[in-house]
Amino acid sequence: MRAIVVYGVSAVALVGLGIGSLFIGGSKSTAPDVSQTAAAAKTGPVEATAALAPASKVQVMAQAPAVQPPQPTPMPRLAEAPCQNPGALGVARVVEIDTSGGPGFGFQHFKAYDFLNPGEVVFTFDDGPWPGNTPAVLAALAAQCTKATFFSIGKHAIWHPEILKQVAAAGHTVGSHTWSHADLSKKTPEEAKDEIEKGMSAVHAALGGPVAPFFRFPTLRQPQEMVTYLEGRNIAMFSTDVDSFDFKIHKEDQLITSVMSKLKKQGKGIILMHDFQHGTAQALPQILADLKAAGFKVVHLRPKSAAETLPEYDAMMSQEIKGGTANAKPTNSVVRTVEGN
Ligand SMILES: [Zn+2]
Repeated sequence: MRAIVVYGVSAVALVGLGIGSLFIGGSKSTAPDVSQTAAAAKTGPVEATAALAPASKVQVMAQAPAVQPPQPTPMPRLAEAPCQNPGALGVARVVEIDTSGGPGFGFQHFKAYDFLNPGEVVFTFDDGPWPGNTPAVLAALAAQCTKATFFSIGKHAIWHPEILKQVAAAGHTVGSHTWSHADLSKKTPEEAKDEIEKGMSAVHAALGGPVAPFFRFPTLRQPQEMVTYLEGRNIAMFSTDVDSFDFKIHKEDQLITSVMSKLKKQGKGIILMHDFQHGTAQALPQILADLKAAGFKVVHLRPKSAAETLPEYDAMMSQEIKGGTANAKPTNSVVRTVEGN
């Protein structure tokens, strides 16, 4: 009986919302089971069963075209321009990450997956996109034909979508880093969820396309409840192996020395830097040159499929990205040149 009620309601709701295709495939396959359940569970009058699961509803299900369950969105792959710098650091290896189940990386917090070989590094840049600094980081990476992962703050992405688009267009991986860089350990679970989802949808809206299901907690504070949440959302979490502390070390030469000495000590790792920081943007060309000279190899991370952002947050962010001008008339119908060129 209970199964039939749920089935009947689902059918009505799905057909009513016009989103039957999302679930009908699954329901269709369970239809024979439901009818068996009906036969086996005649605890009430047959008439009541008929009223709850009218034949017409079953008919709708039966006639629906066979639909595959929703498939993950593949990440777009860009055609790579040939590297013009024969002595470039380059990319030694590209790894694809299956984010189902929300794996964690970076030994500072996650020790399950030791995927880097000795001498291999992964560049990660947080807190952008930001005018001046992010383009400078992109230029330094491009000069060495190498690739990185960017963990963008949602608000910054909404403010500077054109810069974030440049990051993606250069072939880097773009993940998210909450909406407003909130310390999630100080938020309620509901607030923390909003921070995560708004951040991801903001990056999605700014890019105008898929965002990687890659996430880094602000200030690396990782409440267990949110780790569990991200696991359920199939979002990979990234801590770090080598924290550059570039938000504290602003002098270029000190930052270069700090990063290189930590890396040489550890021998490999995911390096945490900030494209938001001016000092990092300035120091990066030398850091890359030193890494090359020291024989380090760069590993580029890519997700197997795109993040599944949530529609309610996407709707919120598509309004944000328009800067509250969603209802504005076309500019040329409001402002018209009447004199001059
Ligand atoms: Zn940050």
